[in-house]
This record gives sequence, structure tokens and C-alpha cells, in this order.
Amino acid sequence: MTAIGIDLGTSNSAVAILDADGAPRILTTEDGSTTLPSVVTFDEHGGAVVGAAAWARAVERPEDAVFGAKRLLGRRADDPEVRRLAKLLPFEIVPSPNGDAWARVGGRAVAPEEISALILRELRAMAERFLGEPVTEAVITVPAWFDAAQRAATKDAAAIAGLRVRRLLNEPTAAALGHGAHRGQNRRFAVCDLGGGTFDVAIVDVENGVFEVLATAGDASLGGDDVDRAIVEQLAREVRSKGGLDLGTDAAALVRLRAAAQRVKHELSTAQVADLALPRLGQMPSGRAVDLARTIRRDELELWAMPLLRRLEAPCREAMVRAGRAAAELDEILLVGGMTRMPAVRRTIASIFGKEPRVVPNPDEVVAVGAAVEVARLEGRIEGVLLLDVTARGLALSVNGSPCDLVIAPSAVVPTREHRIIATRADGQRELEFDLWEGESAEASGNRHLARYAVSALPAAPAGEVLVVVELTVDVDGTARVAASELVSGERPLLKLVGGPGLSREQVAKLVEARR
Ligand code: AMP
Repeated sequence: MTAIGIDLGTSNSAVAILDADGAPRILTTEDGSTTLPSVVTFDEHGGAVVGAAAWARAVERPEDAVFGAKRLLGRRADDPEVRRLAKLLPFEIVPSPNGDAWARVGGRAVAPEEISALILRELRAMAERFLGEPVTEAVITVPAWFDAAQRAATKDAAAIAGLRVRRLLNEPTAAALGHGAHRGQNRRFAVCDLGGGTFDVAIVDVENGVFEVLATAGDASLGGDDVDRAIVEQLAREVRSKGGLDLGTDAAALVRLRAAAQRVKHELSTAQVADLALPRLGQMPSGRAVDLARTIRRDELELWAMPLLRRLEAPCREAMVRAGRAAAELDEILLVGGMTRMPAVRRTIASIFGKEPRVVPNPDEVVAVGAAVEVARLEGRIEGVLLLDVTARGLALSVNGSPCDLVIAPSAVVPTREHRIIATRADGQRELEFDLWEGESAEASGNRHLARYAVSALPAAPAGEVLVVVELTVDVDGTARVAASELVSGERPLLKLVGGPGLSREQVAKLVEARR
């Protein structure tokens, strides 16, 4: 029974283990890469293609490729954030029968759990190739702000991929662990994670081996993809003003330009200038081919990225305010995520915190390494370390449209369990329904609806005499469970989920079978 540490990222994923002597080892894809692009496409026969090969196919058939499935996990199709994403993503987002956000690719609607499972399966295969034995368990990292539905969806994805989740680990905690914070003295960290699509900031305390995420903040629409887009827009403008060619409608040219922009961006993290050459990028109405050849300087890129770099500040400040920490009280600023290789990102963060950030040599691997450290900790190979996790949001109940009653407070240390008692309101009432919400508002409109439950087969009695105890549990992974019992008899009446997000147990079982 071998377990691995997985960073299931929005744009890239990675898998790591600790060797017998405790040294971290990041595992590689067949072509030797330490990260796996979180991209999935389907071939003509419905077969899945994952990672770099999927990227290559996506250049030709962008509408059949799913990027960033992580952003859809546990989300409803009518969620404002999903609607905003739908405008940016190349594939179509459609509602599942229960309203979840699914991706429409290869002529069918696919759950993000299934897409994520394909990525997890590939990571599992990478590990099995290296270890030469079956891998059945994993610690998987998730953003600290992931809510109960997003966490439950991540677990379902793992189940479909044949992995039992030993624990879901918050990404900033994983970054600190991967950085070796459990070995050092007490430290107060700010973890800044700038990846392809999102920016996350967390304030993490490590005191006598106890890790605690004090606060998180972020910008869900700020990342390396936006920098790539800024380069593309600038170059497309230049092409237009020079020769009058409008690339705006030429999907193939824009895809090539985007790939070249990203390569130049990477080069400019170490070099001062980079060349971009795209022969026959487009065609004038006259049939004349238009080439693009351009040398780009680092300071030009920094100028184009400036409006994006400015947006790094607000989430950093917000995280500090929420944690009640001033910048001067932080001991170390950890940089995580591929985009923190850009010197201007490092400079901007240094000026926000008034302190040079710690440059980890492997910003896109450190989270997976942290997950591997957590595997070792759970296996008892590392002692004296405790991870204190808190709920990202509160959980509330309402009955028949009553105000939402906060049952589990935000930032409650998990695992935690609370209960509420609901009385019948009519004589002979045999059934009652209640709703579960995520959020702290008394008004439903201020919260996210998680699920509706029905309790039935209650004993017949006058109004108010049957009391149902509803018990809410949030486990160490931050996923929620609901149970109901009858107060007087202690019996468990029938509890049924009437409507809620995510896959049903039957759907998960079917996908597990299908993917065997
Ligand atoms: P992540 O999600 O952490 O893998 O980060 C992915 C983002 O990091 C993408 O936007 C990449 O283009 C960007 N990235 C990776 N390597 C570099 C680099 N050397 N310089 C600048 N950005 C990079």
C-alpha cells in the first residue's frame, strides 16, 4: 500500500514521494518533465489524452481540450465565477442534470471530477512507473479557500482514479512543509502562490511543530495566463498597426502567438532579451503572408504586465489584515507557483512586504513535496508536527425558508461537530426538510446553497413534540457530513439528500468501473 503526494494544480500538477532516507523526490513524466500540464483532450474514439500530449492536440482542436477543470470542481453552472470563466475558457461549460458545471467536449458533457480523475490517474501512473508497485493512496493538496463542495469533488475525483485520499492538505501548509518549515524554529510565513490562473496568499504560523493557516486571500482571476494574454494583445496590436492585419479572428494564429508569448515570458525570467519568430503567422486578404519577428526586452514585458502586477498588492494586504499581522511581524515570505520566477513579480512582492522573499529553487514542485512530507508524517516517519486546519467558511441550516442559522463558524478548527434541533410544526407531521448553506449570512441570498435534505418516517405526534437532531460534522479534510436522529427515541429516521451539488455515489461507482 504505497502513498504519494500530489499537487493537483489548475494549470500544472506534480507528484512527489519521500525516499527511504527522507529525501524528497519529484517524479517525472515519460518525457522527463517534473510537472504535468493539467490538460485533457479526447481522441476520435473517446480515449483520453492527458498532459503535454493533450496540449499539443489542443493547439489544433482547442474546443476539445479541457483546461483548468479544477476551477469547476464543486461549482454550479450558474455560479457568477463560473459564468465569468466561461467567457475565457475555450470549451463550453454546461449544466449537469443537478446544475453542476460540466465541460462539453468531444460531443459529450463531462464532469470536472472525471477530468481531474484522468489527471490524477496519470500522476498515479508516473509514480507506479518509478516505484514499480501499485499506488493506492495519496495526500492531495487543495487551495485553503476550497469549500466543502470543492473538497468533496476532489475526493470523488481521487476515488474515480483509484486513489484513497489519506488527507486533503491546504496548499500554503504544503508549501511551508515542502520548504522544510517543520525542521526549523518557530516562524511566521506569508505564502504567495502565483500560478497560471490564480493568486493566493496565506499567512501561516509554525510554532513548536504546529502549522496553522491564519488567513487567506486571493485573486481568482490573476495569473500567468493573463500575462500571456497581455503579450498577445500587445503583439497583435503591433501587427495591426504595421500591416493592417487583424489577427483577432484567426484562432490558429492566436494559439501560435500565445504559445510563443509564453515561451518568451519564460526566457525573460533569466535573460534580458528574447527573440520571437513566427513565419507566416497570418494572411492578408490579398493572399500575402505576414511574418512576425520581434526581439522583446525584459523591461518591455514588465511594462505590459504592470497593470497585472499592481493587482498583487490588495490580496497581500487583505491576508495580513485578516490575520491581524503587520508585514514587519512576518519572518519569511515564501514564493510558490511558476509565475514567481518572473523577476518583476518577486520585486513587487518584496516591496509590498518590505522584505526580500525567499526564493525557493523549485516553486512549481514545492507543494507536491509538501504533500509527500505529509504522507511521511501520517505514516509516522516524521514526528512532532501537527497541522491545525480551519474551516474556510461557516455552515448554516435553514428550515422552510427560515433565516440561515450558523451552525459551524468560519475558521473553526477541524474536525468539528455541532448540532441543531428542529421541531415538527404540524400535528402528525411525518417528514421535514432543511437546507444546508455555506456562508455566514443570515440571508440565503448571501450564502451558497450546498444541499437540501429530507427527513422522513417520523413518528406521528402533535406539533412540536417530535424533535430531530441534525448533526453537522466537518472532518480534517474540510468535507461536511450530515446525520439526523430523533431526540426522544434516539432512532435514526430516514435521511435523504434531495438536491445538492456533486456526483451521486452511484455516478462515482459507475465512473470507477468505466475507468478500470
Ligand atoms: P503553476 O500553475 O504554478 O505551474 O504556474 C504556471 C504559470 O507559471 C504559467 O503561467 C507559466 O507560464 C508560468 N511560468 C512557468 N515557468 C516560468 C518562468 N520561468 N518564468 C515566468 N513564468 C513561468
